Amino acid sequence: MENSLQVLKIIPGTTVDGIGLRTSIYLAGCQHCCKGCHNPQSWDFNAGEPMNVEEIMERVIEEDFNVTLTGGDPLWQVDKVLPLVKAIKEKGYNIWCYTGFTWEEIIDSPQLSQILKWVDVIVEGRFVEELRDISLRFRGSSNQRIIKVKETLENNLIQTL
Ligand code: SF4
Repeated sequence: MENSLQVLKIIPGTTVDGIGLRTSIYLAGCQHCCKGCHNPQSWDFNAGEPMNVEEIMERVIEEDFNVTLTGGDPLWQVDKVLPLVKAIKEKGYNIWCYTGFTWEEIIDSPQLSQILKWVDVIVEGRFVEELRDISLRFRGSSNQRIIKVKETLENNLIQTL
């Protein structure tokens, strides 16, 4: 399907991928290859089913929760994700995005940093097995940061949750 995203699954009403009840959209594809990754099946960019932005938005609006993008790593296909986050934000939903890229890698990349205009919170960084900590909320290893995008950009200083 032209301009479609490969969607592994859409889970509505979840509480584990960010604050409050959320619709989590799992997008296929990741090349970070973190040791101990919880879901290596998600690395395949062809896994899941193709859905276009309109089809995904139908689900988002039907469920009417704030939204989390995860995977896989949505930023590996940022060009396709941009129209989706724009559509979600235009409907007024809060957006969290999980990514294995670090904040510094994102802001240094003209391509990746485009997403910051639309996303409220970035949960960033590779999963590091040696730093795994099951007591952490919304992240798997202690190197990962939950970054408030707007506040961080305004202050030019990383603001975490
Ligand atoms: S970034 Fe996430 S999905 Fe990708 S390899 Fe690391 S833990 Fe797995």
